[in-house]
Amino acid sequence: MKKLIPMLTICFLLSCNSSAQKKENQQKETFEITKTEAEWKAELTDKEYYVLREAGTERPFSSPLNKKYEKGVYHCAACDTPLFKSEHKFDSGTGWPSFDRAIEGNVAYGTDTKIGYTRDEEHCATCGGHLGHVFNDGPKETTGKRHCINGVALKFVPAED
Ligand SMILES: [Zn+2]
Repeated sequence: MKKLIPMLTICFLLSCNSSAQKKENQQKETFEITKTEAEWKAELTDKEYYVLREAGTERPFSSPLNKKYEKGVYHCAACDTPLFKSEHKFDSGTGWPSFDRAIEGNVAYGTDTKIGYTRDEEHCATCGGHLGHVFNDGPKETTGKRHCINGVALKFVPAED
């Protein structure tokens, strides 16, 4: 009988833990395109997976899209949803592709406290892939916002003329 009490305590702790996890999952956003992590892993490159699915950050100045200013549209690298237009891109000097606005409705926002303070996290509204963050130090003459985006999360589609 003495052994039964610690056993029961363990069971109780485990059940408590699992119900808390269920609650957390229910609060998660749902996306039009949903895949298992294994499916994403098979489709994306390691770098894309790290940024889009694990909310990682690419090294600054590492993306060939950083200094790209051709006319076109930047799509989500995971699901091909158009996210940013070239006319809204600017050189922020940070080393990451930067835009003063996104294509409305195609991105969604969350909060990220990973590095100790709250940042506005930005992700694809269709597949939930992490893109980057939004800061308030963008060009004052337009929106004042800086969408700081990982180039690896984007696919550039040049405009047809
Ligand atoms: Zn997407």
